Amino acid sequence: MGVYESQVVAFARYAAAQVAYHERVVAQHQIDGTGCCRSCGRVWPCDQLQHSRGMVDHFSQWALAEKQAIPDPELVRPYVEPVGDG
Ligand SMILES: [Zn+2]
Repeated sequence: MGVYESQVVAFARYAAAQVAYHERVVAQHQIDGTGCCRSCGRVWPCDQLQHSRGMVDHFSQWALAEKQAIPDPELVRPYVEPVGDG
């Protein structure tokens, strides 16, 4: 496995973790009965909600499920050589 491919997989895992984290924030920062955020009490939608929604959208494009984590060979740059022993 080339170094670039392993970085792609590592980044996909990082992106998936970011999506999971921000999905949890989105779930926490929902509207309460008074029109405010039930988590932070600010006017809803609060800054954290809007930020985390954006982050979910942003990282979702790279967050692959484990079984899909093998990158498309056409996306692997052929001029990037794997790091060898020498
Ligand atoms: Zn909030």
